[in-house]
Amino acid sequence: MEHTTRPRVTGTREDPPIATGPQATATKPSAAAEDPATELARVRREMEDLRLHLIRESQQRDELLTIVSHELRTPITVIDGFNKLLLSEQSGPLTDEQRRFLEESRKSCRRLNLFVANLLEKERLRVGESAPHLAINSLRTLLEGVATFLAPLMAESDQKLEIEVAPDAETACFDPMSIEQVLVNLIGNGFKYGRRGGTLRVECQQLGGDPAYVEVAVLDDGPGVPEEERERIFEPYVRREEHLGSGGLGLGLAICRRIMASHRGSISVGDAPGGGSRFAFSLPIAPVAS
Ligand code: ADP
Repeated sequence: MEHTTRPRVTGTREDPPIATGPQATATKPSAAAEDPATELARVRREMEDLRLHLIRESQQRDELLTIVSHELRTPITVIDGFNKLLLSEQSGPLTDEQRRFLEESRKSCRRLNLFVANLLEKERLRVGESAPHLAINSLRTLLEGVATFLAPLMAESDQKLEIEVAPDAETACFDPMSIEQVLVNLIGNGFKYGRRGGTLRVECQQLGGDPAYVEVAVLDDGPGVPEEERERIFEPYVRREEHLGSGGLGLGLAICRRIMASHRGSISVGDAPGGGSRFAFSLPIAPVAS
């Protein structure tokens, strides 16, 4: 359900304002005692106070989100480190059941880590929406780093990752941290929603046109996305019916779309040639004049 808040008209004797926020301390002369110019000045002051109050509140919320996200990251890393250590059997042999429990614990750590990364990115986008660090960077280097980072997820879902970069699509103009986030989301989804034991492909090729763009496509061999849902899944908190139980937030693709907008690029989903989905995004090869 959508909630809308009607602006509250204050300043009449019949309807005194509820004392919250910056107005709580404001002493308000009665309307009858004010000439129009004084009243206008007072309303302007109140609006400015309210604006500053809202900015402060928003900053405090962002700070809290950052603290929570960062504070979660450290203990997750520590827990996962101990899981790894126990699994290496350096501190004694494990039974099959103990091994299984620890592997489950590791999976949860990974999920939580991705969740926190998404939260951080969401917050980063909200605060600094217009400030990606755009420069010419190597797509291949970025992809190799992401593949290494996601190797445990790959092993877990028994899937292979193939990367193909055309010679004229080696570099593009992007912010590595942001595009890494896009790739982690798309490839992570490929592992999550693709076929167990299947193959995920990442293909980079140059698109024609002026200015020239590089297209990066992530293809999986899962069930694909029905045509009527292809736009909707890029909206925040939207998840397809069949995936509601799989523990995501429905934010990953919305974050990808915002990152792409900040790069003057685009992102969409279509069909992969052999069935499955093909998520593709485009990046300018050189800085685009604004
Ligand atoms: P999350 O994966 O956390 O739910 P996303 O925003 O990444 O959030 O994805 C939104 C929804 O789009 C998913 O819940 C899923 O239903 C659908 N989806 C995303 N990637 C794929 C894919 N590779 N194959 C099929 N469906 C997908």
